[in-house]
Amino acid sequence: MRFDILTIFPESLDGLLSVGVIGQARDAGHLRIHLHDLREFTDDPHRIVDDRPYGGGAGMVMKVEPFVRGIEAIRGDCGPNTRTVLLSSQGRLFQQRDAKQWAALDGLILLCGRYEGIDERIVEFIDDEVSIGDYVLTGGEAAAAVVVEATARMTPGVVGKYDSVESDSFYGKDGRLGAPQYTRPPVFRGLEVPETLQSGDHAKIEAYREAEAWKKTARNRPDLIGLNVEGTDADG
Ligand code: SAH
Repeated sequence: MRFDILTIFPESLDGLLSVGVIGQARDAGHLRIHLHDLREFTDDPHRIVDDRPYGGGAGMVMKVEPFVRGIEAIRGDCGPNTRTVLLSSQGRLFQQRDAKQWAALDGLILLCGRYEGIDERIVEFIDDEVSIGDYVLTGGEAAAAVVVEATARMTPGVVGKYDSVESDSFYGKDGRLGAPQYTRPPVFRGLEVPETLQSGDHAKIEAYREAEAWKKTARNRPDLIGLNVEGTDADG
């Protein structure tokens, strides 16, 4: 899969998207990530990407033309099954199911805003507008990294053992959290690893994990319970 990120700070994403599972997948050729400097798509000597807002008000607004030129240039290099997505505090909430669906695409073109955001006419040139949560960031770069991390992780071949994706939080049809995990030592400052996990009895371990996962979901994310559940009383 291929990701193209259009930003005024391409260097800001370099480190994060070169390490760990993502870095390895890039080296192995499973993923391609291209960071594009938005200023390359300006047509004035000062490479200006922002201007004052119509109607007045504080702050600057990003101009629409560099983004549209960028999208059109990048699309020429992408497969037919590519989506253009704007990272925006005003978008619909990005979720695991989007990551799962997008992982089947040829590619994603991700647009990062700054300042007060992008001229609204950009919505005519994109396929989707997503937010990573109900808070305002200073720019779309951190959000683009979130989308790349989540989507790349769902691309076969990226996470070594695909199994580990299937037992993750939000993955299954019930959308619950994953089970709590432990590793050695068996006792740390008097805190013991649950006995069942050390028993070697796989059926018992499976049942224990299922129960603990639901307990943790109820404690930390009660809002997830009853969502997307097939064959239960989710509809009352
Ligand atoms: N004036 C806007 C905020 C702009 S923040 C408003 O009132 O909603 C500047 C840029 O940061 C945005 O263009 C967007 O690309 C990015 N951004 C901020 N918060 C975000 C969020 N929750 N999710 C995704 N991108 C976000």
